Amino acid sequence: MTSEAEVVIVGGGAAGIAAGRRLHDAGIDCLVVEARSRLGGRAFTLRAGPDYPIDLGCGWLHSADRNPWTTIAVAQRRTIDKTPPPWLRLSMPIGFPLAEQASFLKTLAEFRERLDSLSDSAPDVAAARFLEPGDRWNDLINAVGTYVSGAELEKVSALDYGRYEDSGVNWRVVEGYGTTIAAHAAGVPVALGVPVQRIDHGERRLRLETSDGTITTEAVVVTVPTDLLAQEGLRFTPALPDKIEAAAGLPLGLADKLFLSLSGADEFDKDARLFGRHDRSGTATYHVRPFGRPMIEGYFGGRLAAELEAGGDAAFFDFARMELVGLLGSGFARRIQPIHIHRWKADPFARGSYSYALPGKAECRAVLAAPADDRLFFAGEACSRHSYSTAHGAYLTGIAAAEQVIAAWRSRHKERAIRS
Ligand SMILES: Cc1cc2nc3c(=O)[nH]c(=O)nc-3n(C[C@H](O)[C@H](O)[C@H](O)COP(=O)(O)OP(=O)(O)OC[C@H]3O[C@@H](n4cnc5c(N)ncnc54)[C@H](O)[C@@H]3O)c2cc1C
Repeated sequence: MTSEAEVVIVGGGAAGIAAGRRLHDAGIDCLVVEARSRLGGRAFTLRAGPDYPIDLGCGWLHSADRNPWTTIAVAQRRTIDKTPPPWLRLSMPIGFPLAEQASFLKTLAEFRERLDSLSDSAPDVAAARFLEPGDRWNDLINAVGTYVSGAELEKVSALDYGRYEDSGVNWRVVEGYGTTIAAHAAGVPVALGVPVQRIDHGERRLRLETSDGTITTEAVVVTVPTDLLAQEGLRFTPALPDKIEAAAGLPLGLADKLFLSLSGADEFDKDARLFGRHDRSGTATYHVRPFGRPMIEGYFGGRLAAELEAGGDAAFFDFARMELVGLLGSGFARRIQPIHIHRWKADPFARGSYSYALPGKAECRAVLAAPADDRLFFAGEACSRHSYSTAHGAYLTGIAAAEQVIAAWRSRHKERAIRS
């Protein structure tokens, strides 16, 4: 591995790849240093058998009509599937009659409207405060909250939740979102399988201690997930308490996907949905025949996902089988088999799925995103004010950090030219 570069990007996920691509294309000598043996981070497409690529992390191009990854996927000649997402349509009326669904969707929309209309000066309380006390749909709204934020609404900042912006257009990449993101790094210098342990920024040149020796550089873009910063999986010398505190205010929620094979799949409509239960918050949602494939994608969030992770991979399958049999009858157990589950909390270089802000901590995103000393720059989904928790939010923060690096680099080089 090279022992110096003008700019080092720590982490090769969506943000790090965006930053690396921008800097490399600007002619700056940069290096992406990635802990895992693959690029993409929480964007991770796995080939499940000969037929289907499956996205274990991000799968939906949210705000697809203005999402930069859509443009990149098209340029890569990927196939974009524009089927509207199951959550914007009614679910199958199995155990959940259509009239009940309409009532639930109305209550959910009203809850979101109350959060969306919060002004910046509103007190930053828990999002759960905006539920109507005693409403019959509160548990299911909370379940949906665990899919959206990875955490129950009592843990989530109302202000931050309300700041999220989305165009309502959601598409998918048939070959995989993860594949698209990783391929965007083609030609950018990358060191794989090299965790950075410490960044020493006490001297004129920055020093990165890695598992594979020391790298010296003029500037660093840090893109690692917030839980790694907060738990000091990556350390700074001198310490950066503001960054650690900001990262701790933006913990990673948990969402895990379980992929099941489904026999006799044609019985169901393509891209249909089922909630496991509608009377409790600890329930999964099941996307049946995604892309028309003979599969089910189960989505588990928050406390439920954490409890199942503690039980190992089999716990997810047992839970899904129990819920699906409850809806579709005992014979259904024979029609499903596990394909894959990725436990994101147990993954040492993720430690969770996507960030949410704790009540009172909505402003931590700006604190985390601010450069330190014009040499340490920060990017990653958690740095995004309006598109946090997404791959396109991560991309935009990576580009923003790269632009800051380029501006600082130009002014440094100008100073040197004047001095010489
Ligand atoms: C189950 C699930 C479903 C999701 N669904 C969607 C979706 O449908 N749409 C959407 O837009 N988003 C979705 N997301 C979120 C999206 O995947 C992330 O927001 C985005 O990929 C984060 O990118 P990032 O670059 O900020 O972070 P990461 O992708 O986490 O990149 C950080 C990188 O840093 C590396 N790293 C960590 N520590 C070190 C170290 N010490 N040294 C060097 N490298 C290190 C990591 O290995 C990683 O590659 C989902 C995520 C999950 C888990």
